[in-house]
Amino acid sequence: MSIEPRPTASHFVNGAYLEDTDGAVIDLIYPATGEKIGQVHAATPAVVDAALSAAKAAQPAWAAMTGTERGRILRRAADIIRERNRELSVLETYDTGKPLQETLVADATSAADALEYFGGLAGSLTGEHIPLGGDWAYTVREALGVCVGIGAWNYPTQIAAWKGAPALACGNAMVFKPSETTPLCALKVAEILHEAGLPAGLYNVVQGMGAVGAALVEDPRVAKVSLTGSAPTGKRVYAAAAAQMKHVTMELGGKSPLIIFDDADVEDAVSGAILGNFYSSGQVCSNGTRVFVQNGIREAFLKRLKERTEAATLGDPMDEATNFGPMVSDAQMKIVEGYIAKGQEEGATLVTGGARADLPGYFLQPTIFADVTDDMTIAREEIFGPVLSVLDFETEDEVIARANDTDLGLAGGVFTRDLARAHRIVGALEAGTCWINQYNPAPVEMPFGGVKGSGVGRENSKIAIEHYSQLKTVYVGMLPVEAPF
Ligand code: NDP
Repeated sequence: MSIEPRPTASHFVNGAYLEDTDGAVIDLIYPATGEKIGQVHAATPAVVDAALSAAKAAQPAWAAMTGTERGRILRRAADIIRERNRELSVLETYDTGKPLQETLVADATSAADALEYFGGLAGSLTGEHIPLGGDWAYTVREALGVCVGIGAWNYPTQIAAWKGAPALACGNAMVFKPSETTPLCALKVAEILHEAGLPAGLYNVVQGMGAVGAALVEDPRVAKVSLTGSAPTGKRVYAAAAAQMKHVTMELGGKSPLIIFDDADVEDAVSGAILGNFYSSGQVCSNGTRVFVQNGIREAFLKRLKERTEAATLGDPMDEATNFGPMVSDAQMKIVEGYIAKGQEEGATLVTGGARADLPGYFLQPTIFADVTDDMTIAREEIFGPVLSVLDFETEDEVIARANDTDLGLAGGVFTRDLARAHRIVGALEAGTCWINQYNPAPVEMPFGGVKGSGVGRENSKIAIEHYSQLKTVYVGMLPVEAPF
């Protein structure tokens, strides 16, 4: 397989690459240099229609196969992805700018895990038998039909598979629209699924901006929409889906708390804060960007956090020694720079970073603010960049109230050696996904998703099956039928 960043064509529809140059040009910009490395075209209405028609036509036969047959194809795709992990990781790095050191372990491998996991589950999807004393009922787990997936730009391979794998396992077809910023990786997921034996039409990729996403969401052929994106987009997409009573999964943004108590292991807590703020240059929805640090550990924590952050290796993302890459785009870099300026204006103390790095492309230095207060913009709004805010606290009750004082509720974490306290804290956090003495791992076996403004539904784990299938209930009369007259 070629690792050329230029795709064979813009779209993948009905089992093959498809081009339509009438669609608006979307430039592919390599974030590490700012250079244009290729282009794709946005889907025209004809391409959107072709993808939805193909999906609609292919889905019934796919749903009629046994789960074991469907699962075998998904697991074969997982094997192919693992064999080609390096090539796919290079592509992910072209798409996002994330260092190869990261993409080699976090992107295609995560997609393979999802395909393997849901491939394994596919044969076990059943209903239940409900005895009713003579009569009885049973439930049938049915596919929804055509599902639409819409992705953000931070994990393009992973998102394409986290949505595609459970959808296909349950017998659905998918039309996936990647973010216009990262159009490459989902095409490879589609190509590999078909190479593994997926019948044509079941996993389609169409490029485009929000308007293409909106056209997909509004089409009456679509039964379900799964979005990974920002909270404002989530509200728009949720409303459009609700107008036709469609199923939704909404994986949206966060402003998650990471709480570090005096008794925590300093090195582990610093590692958690680094993983929860600087991995993928901070472009991770579940990041613990409000780092609440108890007063007794503050100085030691800040000292080690600064030292270790300043040891990050910025540079060519294709060099495996690089562990901190550029922002995904010029636009995202400028948004984050705006937040850094706000932090300084509003009185936070800049501990390190705060400026562009002296490199080509869209590099920002990993940035730490201390003395951040709850009302500051950097403590209230999702930044989606490498900006870590340290907020001081004294007591457990105080920190829980402050941690929950946000409209968002994606994630949260706590570092402490007191395990009873750790469980008390996560029990009180208004968050969908929590970590104790860790931050951010999201293996496919565990549910992932948010509460409050961070979304509805869950991805991954057995629970995702609920979100890509529905139950039909059948009552079976075995006895004479009694009627009142
Ligand atoms: P956006 O919300 O801007 O976009 C998400 C996707 O939705 C893109 O593909 C976008 O298209 C598309 N879109 C935009 N408007 C519409 C519309 N009206 N109808 C249908 N589709 C539409 O998010 P970003 O791409 O900027 O990603 C960053 C955000 O994603 C952050 O807020 C982050 O927190 C969140 N995120 C959440 C995750 C989670 O699991 N909870 C994981 C990763 C990110 P286009 O941009 O191409 O125009």
